[in-house]
Amino acid sequence: TSGSASTLQDYAKDKLSKQMVELFEECQQQACDLTRKETCRSRLQRDIQSVFPVARLYLTGSSMSGLGCRSSDADLCLVLRGSTQGSPDPIHILTVLQAFFRPLGYLEKIQLIRAKVPILRFREKGSGLEFDLNVNNTVGIRNTFLLRSYAYADLRVKPIILAVKKWARHHQINDASKGTLSSYTLVLMVLHYLQTLGEPVLPSLQKDYPECFNPSMEIDMIPEGPRHIPPYKSQNKSSLGDLLQGFLKYYSSTFRWDTQVISVREGKALPKNKSAEWRNKYICVEEPFERNNVARAVHEQMKFNTIKSKFAASSQILAQSKDLNALLPVRATI
Ligand code: ATP
Ligand code: MG
Repeated sequence: TSGSASTLQDYAKDKLSKQMVELFEECQQQACDLTRKETCRSRLQRDIQSVFPVARLYLTGSSMSGLGCRSSDADLCLVLRGSTQGSPDPIHILTVLQAFFRPLGYLEKIQLIRAKVPILRFREKGSGLEFDLNVNNTVGIRNTFLLRSYAYADLRVKPIILAVKKWARHHQINDASKGTLSSYTLVLMVLHYLQTLGEPVLPSLQKDYPECFNPSMEIDMIPEGPRHIPPYKSQNKSSLGDLLQGFLKYYSSTFRWDTQVISVREGKALPKNKSAEWRNKYICVEEPFERNNVARAVHEQMKFNTIKSKFAASSQILAQSKDLNALLPVRATI
């Protein structure tokens, strides 16, 4: 439509913003990538149902949220219900699955990872597509739908998040297993920044549409496909480049790591209270449904310092150069 800014190009008139659009178009997940993941999901679900008849397999994470790149893994949530009372031990289920997957022939490099949320990691033979499968961690299905809704609330969300993920990966601060930031944490940090601008780019969708994001909604009722939340009409017309610069600057100098908690649920920073969830934590980012700290992996002072220094240095570099290549010199690894 004419009149208002309604295409990505309207937010990309300068060089930096154009580079961000280019990166986005090069890297964003394609329809064929999603089809490949979906085909494998449905085959896996069918096979798993021969062992666990009530099992349902859900694709979650960036593959579903629209915040993925072509190289993103596929996150899967296995939902088991009705079989036994109480919750089954995920390690036990994953061990059974691991033994069951081995002779199937189309999977390889199957490994059990005993993290806080245990996962089975494996690849599809041939395509090399990587999967992370958890058991009953259904909050991932809810928050994937929330992230997806944010991804479609404003055209600028996807390209900014993709650039931030690439930036963090390049600077080696995007690996929760190594004490830095998970992609999920980075996404919430970007959403928080966009929510708290003087003229916000995003609202709190949980506040505006509580019925759509009711934490006790049945898993099967959580929509995955069609988006029924209308785009947010922001008065903020900042370019992609200005928002990327603003993001780096916000976490370099405005956000108070020692006293504030990032709450995408509330659409603002909350004061750190004395609760165990936030006490002695370097970075506090609230899970929008479970309200625990998604950034708890950052538990070493040194890693925290590294993260802060990357924000500060990159903020400076970008302010001076206004050139994405100065921030992300290696573009070969998409
Ligand atoms: P990438 O494209 O790098 O794979 P991603 O968006 O898939 O990124 P991950 O950090 O791999 O992000 O997380 C995958 C999904 O797992 C998230 O979208 C979220 O649904 C869920 N998740 C990850 N960490 C948490 C957490 N701490 N609490 C709740 N859910 C989480
Ligand atoms: Mg993922």
